[in-house]
Amino acid sequence: MTDAAALPGQPRGAVVSGPATDRAVNVLAPNPSAMTLDGTNTWLLSEPDSPLAVVVDPGPLDEAHLRRVIDTAERLGKRVALTLLTHGHPDHAEGAGRFAELTGTAVRALDPALRLGDEGLTAGRAIEVGGLELRVVPTPGHTADSLSFHLPADRAVLTGDTILGRGTTMVAHPDGRLGDYLDSLRRLRSLTVDDGVRTVLPGHGPVLEDAQGAVEYYLAHRATRLAQVETAVEDGYRTAADVVAHVYADVDRSLWPAAELSVRAQLEYLTEHGLI
Ligand SMILES: [Zn+2]
Repeated sequence: MTDAAALPGQPRGAVVSGPATDRAVNVLAPNPSAMTLDGTNTWLLSEPDSPLAVVVDPGPLDEAHLRRVIDTAERLGKRVALTLLTHGHPDHAEGAGRFAELTGTAVRALDPALRLGDEGLTAGRAIEVGGLELRVVPTPGHTADSLSFHLPADRAVLTGDTILGRGTTMVAHPDGRLGDYLDSLRRLRSLTVDDGVRTVLPGHGPVLEDAQGAVEYYLAHRATRLAQVETAVEDGYRTAADVVAHVYADVDRSLWPAAELSVRAQLEYLTEHGLI
């Protein structure tokens, strides 16, 4: 969900389809909304001189979009050889089955229910397609099945909904858990500090060129919100809905249902840590 705050390293202007790094091309899905920002970013990844491409998050079940992804690959002289999912939310995964049918590819995801084909994804393991290397980074918290993909050759990480290109994301309680999410942000921070990752290729919104700044902003934002929720409870706001109306008064009301899930995750975290 968005707090309309500028993020470190965020370029101006709208998200457009096209190349973002040497190996990553965005094909923007036509599903904009308050929750999905400009729409879902479907990422087409490939080594520059390879005929094979990997697609991350085919997006919604929108035939024209899925065909546009395939056309984009073909225009670049490439064939889609594998489909990956950052997580199972429909704006990322709903089109995966049809996309797999159109491309004849397997779909790999953390959640076995989302896979097509025999292979899943294992944390820390590398995926190699036509010389392109991706490392699977577990980043639960937005959902339990959320993954990020580290693209070392471009010093980039694909974050799905764990970090967005604008505003902040939600912790989708009860599947998503705040403790997991904070651990995931720290894992992403270590990618920026220890592994030289500079660029965030998010599931929605613009590319971020200051990955470490973005992670630090997200950690600081979560700490601020958590303190606000703790104070609200101390001030007598009891239900999640009451806390949302108080703490998220600055956020567009269309996002309050999502905010309520995040508040439930925060209340759970505060209770588990004996803070309320
Ligand atoms: Zn999501």
